[in-house]
Amino acid sequence: MARKVIEKLDCDGCLKKEGREVDAVMKLIIGPDEYHLCESHGEKFRSLIAEALGNTTDTAQSA
Ligand SMILES: [Zn+2]
Repeated sequence: MARKVIEKLDCDGCLKKEGREVDAVMKLIIGPDEYHLCESHGEKFRSLIAEALGNTTDTAQSA
């Protein structure tokens, strides 16, 4: 019998900062570091990284 295991991941940002378990909807990998993030934390990191790289065109509309 095959059992399907669905891996559920919590947002690292919500868990570490607020102690809340929020479903992660995206993953951020930088070198050896891997983060799982909810919608709002994900968008926050996306725009931070885009800004750091000098690309603000894509993320400006999503707010
Ligand atoms: Zn979060």
